[in-house]
Amino acid sequence: CGVFGIFDHEQQAGLETYYGLFALQHRGQESAGITISDGKSMETFRGMGLVTEVFRQIPEKEGFIGIGHVRYSTTGSSVSSNIQPLQAEGINGSVAIAHNGNLTNTISLKTRLLQGGATFQTTMDTEVIIKLLARSKERRIEDQIKEVMSEIRGAYALVVCTNHSLYGVRDPLGYRPLVIGQTEKGWVLASETAALDLIDAQYYRDVQPGEIVTIDEEGLHSEWFEAYRPARLGMCSFEYIYFARPDSIINGQSVYEARLEMGRQLWKEAQFDGDVVMSVPDSGNVAARGYAEVSGIPYSVGLLKNKYMGRTFIKPGQKNREIAVRMKLNPIRCNVEGKRIVLIDDSIVRGTTSGIIVRLLKKAGAKEVNLLISSPPVCYPCYFGIDTAERKQLIGATHTLEEIRKFIGADRLQYLSEEGLARAISCIPKKDMCMACFNGDYPEVLDTEGQKKE
Ligand code: 5GP
Ligand code: SF4
Ligand code: MG
Repeated sequence: CGVFGIFDHEQQAGLETYYGLFALQHRGQESAGITISDGKSMETFRGMGLVTEVFRQIPEKEGFIGIGHVRYSTTGSSVSSNIQPLQAEGINGSVAIAHNGNLTNTISLKTRLLQGGATFQTTMDTEVIIKLLARSKERRIEDQIKEVMSEIRGAYALVVCTNHSLYGVRDPLGYRPLVIGQTEKGWVLASETAALDLIDAQYYRDVQPGEIVTIDEEGLHSEWFEAYRPARLGMCSFEYIYFARPDSIINGQSVYEARLEMGRQLWKEAQFDGDVVMSVPDSGNVAARGYAEVSGIPYSVGLLKNKYMGRTFIKPGQKNREIAVRMKLNPIRCNVEGKRIVLIDDSIVRGTTSGIIVRLLKKAGAKEVNLLISSPPVCYPCYFGIDTAERKQLIGATHTLEEIRKFIGADRLQYLSEEGLARAISCIPKKDMCMACFNGDYPEVLDTEGQKKE
């Protein structure tokens, strides 16, 4: 998911939040929502679909505080009741919340709340957070947030607003990113810096793991969740590999630069030779450039991506999956024919897409397709907000390298090593990075119930 928040006296919070969400669209295409406050009252506008589909018109409500959310479902099914932000009326007035991440102890918290008489309108873990917030007896919102933080486990980058203030919160392990930006008259919070660029906000700094940032009339100040200081952090490496935009900067490192380095590391490790380096657009583009640069093999475009693909109706079944890939990608025959291709993509999850792409290139006359992946094999599910499927669906978990190569139909196949990946994400020490979907080393002890996924 993507989250955004703004506190700005221009009274255009709705419009600015719309722009912010538009820049974060890649983080979730299922639904979108905006909450606006004018200091007295709060209103939430939400719908299923892309930001431009949901907001054919910008909400008319004027306001100086806004938060927004684009959803990519992990927990909770894809239905309209599960759209964020969620708004609630507490003892201290209205509060709204937008959440990126996934809690790992939702079931036990929910059971406790249900036993206490609470009812739930959605199946989202985020509703647990807002219920816990609304029930806190603390007076200050910051203390309410700390109380909730002591109960919830797992991944959360939160943007919260009341009729007076905006809050940004990052879980103590810092799984998901959250940055602070500064406008002429106010402040912005966003999952990625790309959202700051669009509204001309200057990057200020990242919200730190375990930090609660408050933005109000007095400006910006921060407090810390002290009750739990983990021995290691768990910043998501997949953000750099695939999820974030290459024009964003996370923890001070350019995502583009990290991907370029993944490509360079691939050359160091694999040294696959060929006539051309090509990428699977768009997720493999930058790593392929890095590989071409250090290998000296020319970069060429082998697959053209249809810009108008958007979200398409995909029927289940292998034949339909193949049509879906072909709707999106088409080989450029003159670049492919007779060539020994070094093909670069970011990751293999189920393995179906890669297989279809290799067949497409061979049909277009490729002499060899040697596939390189700019991350290690995905072997374990993610419980922290990125949907990498169940373990039994992960081809890396159930098959050897040689079996995967055969299944995909590539002439050669190699993945980037964990060490190579860690070298590319140079801004985070390896011990503070989450690579659990590759190595099963989850940064915190998982509640066994937390592993149940809907
Ligand atoms: P698969 O191996 O499952 O057929 O497809 C892997 C491709 O899906 C990769 O090239 C990557 O760009 C993309 N991908 C990687 N992670 C995710 C994810 O979490 N969600 C979605 N929708 N696509 C992903
Ligand atoms: Fe990111 Fe993988 Fe960790 Fe999930 S398990 S937070 S996708 S590195
Ligand atoms: Mg891809």
